[in-house]
Amino acid sequence: MSLSKYRGKRDLRASGEPAGGMTTRADLRFVVQKHAASRLHYDFRLELDGVLKSWAVPKGPSLDPSDRRLAIQVEDHPLDYRTFEGVIPKGNYGAGEVIVWDEGTYTDDPPSPSRARMVRNLREQLRRGDMKIRLSGSKLHGSFALVAIRQGDGRQWLLIKHRDPDAARGHAVLRDTHSVLSGRTLRDLRTRAS
Ligand code: MN
Repeated sequence: MSLSKYRGKRDLRASGEPAGGMTTRADLRFVVQKHAASRLHYDFRLELDGVLKSWAVPKGPSLDPSDRRLAIQVEDHPLDYRTFEGVIPKGNYGAGEVIVWDEGTYTDDPPSPSRARMVRNLREQLRRGDMKIRLSGSKLHGSFALVAIRQGDGRQWLLIKHRDPDAARGHAVLRDTHSVLSGRTLRDLRTRAS
């Protein structure tokens, strides 16, 4: 394994450096960024084929299966974007504060037996506009559907929680307004910027 030399030289617990390795390499990542642009929204992003497939969710994700959250597909973002947190300056596209509201890994649902098959399956689901995914984040967990609305312009989707043990009534999840990376809120960033 190519990282064994890297790990052999280090006490990663003491140094705090990334361990790398099978789990992080094999798992696809997701991130939800809370973004105070001209309209507040949540950017829901799924790693696939080396980019972040992206949707803007005006009302934010919900763990309540009775909610159908509009999710507008936007342009792919670079993978690096998943850790972006800060203030996009006035005069720039999407000007405003951004925090990493949630992050974690995801699979297709039910999970394919290998990464290669999972990626093929997710590509096909994305193309069809009918994704079934399982999230393992700090705030969002369990099975979700992301479904294109065919009557629309092809960019409008719905994000819906499946009924499973991770489902919850109401919107308590959105009351946690802190970044999972830094603990900061949008307001913290605003205060610091002014
Ligand atoms: Mn945005």
